[in-house]
Amino acid sequence: MSFERVAIIGLGLLGGSIGLAVRECLPGVATTGYDADPATRARAAERGLVGQVCDDPADAVRNADLVILCVPVGAMGAAARAIAPYLTQGVLVSDVGSSKQTVAAALAEALPGVAVIPAHPVAGTERSGADAGFASLFRHRWCIITPPAGADPGQLASLSTFWEALGAEVEIMDARHHDMVLAVTSHLPHLIAYTIVGTASDLEGVTESEVIKYSAGGFRDFTRIAASDPTMWRDVFLTNKDAVLEMLQRFTEDLTALQRAIRVGDGAQLFDHFERTRAIRRSIIEEGQDDARPDFGRSDHGS
Ligand code: NAP
Repeated sequence: MSFERVAIIGLGLLGGSIGLAVRECLPGVATTGYDADPATRARAAERGLVGQVCDDPADAVRNADLVILCVPVGAMGAAARAIAPYLTQGVLVSDVGSSKQTVAAALAEALPGVAVIPAHPVAGTERSGADAGFASLFRHRWCIITPPAGADPGQLASLSTFWEALGAEVEIMDARHHDMVLAVTSHLPHLIAYTIVGTASDLEGVTESEVIKYSAGGFRDFTRIAASDPTMWRDVFLTNKDAVLEMLQRFTEDLTALQRAIRVGDGAQLFDHFERTRAIRRSIIEEGQDDARPDFGRSDHGS
């Protein structure tokens, strides 16, 4: 089974990118969309993010055989409740939320008797809103699907095929494991970036203009991550609390070890550590998950 009518709820970076990618990669598939923000709906219609932008979530999902919720994780339950009475028989509901256990529970509660298979495309930028989306966002990026126990194998296969058609590589994972892995690869790095940029801006004795002027020393790369959407990231930390706190504990211990190495002048420990981390960067580039160019190749799609 393949999907013929896809409804997208939330037309920001993720929702808009899915709409554009479907238009490019699956031209036979019809798309409808809804966003809570009227200005976003107007801009989505101008950009043609979906075939039809609806002013009511009911109209967006009424005939859809796949509904994808692309709203902040804290809004998933409300978005699901708003569409629940209007879903068709046999529809599959999925999402793109960055944390999975809490979202799975919220969707199961809001949509009793409806097939739900959550997913998380590990692809994004620091931009948000109706202007942020682009069709190639998912190309060569992983999409992690976290089917609940008892999920229909046919629907799981269809959802996998859908994401592969948009250019993604699919991995099936347990929701709990997903939350642990993403806590270290995504959530903790964002927390560190938010912290370091805040620390620099609060410093007495170093002016803000100096922080900006000399940012190419490393700070600049943290500011990109720390510019990410505040609503989205507030929700991610609140919904993946346990895994983030566990990773933060480990990080603090490792930071303390490096702090000690600096204090006692243990250059060998510092060198060994930095050599190990440099090898990880090399592996990421070799696996095509980033670009070796100084701007990480991001100017290619203007984000
Ligand atoms: P975004 O650009 O801010 O878009 C989200 C849109 O959803 C906004 O226009 C928002 O409107 C709208 N919205 C909020 N509540 C709604 C509701 N109840 N019904 C309908 N629309 C609603 O955010 P995004 O970056 O696309 O993120 C969307 C989801 O993708 C999040 O769950 C996030 O965790 C996940 N994700 C993000 C990334 C990333 O890098 N950004 C990567 C992977 C996954 P308002 O602005 O008016 O609230």
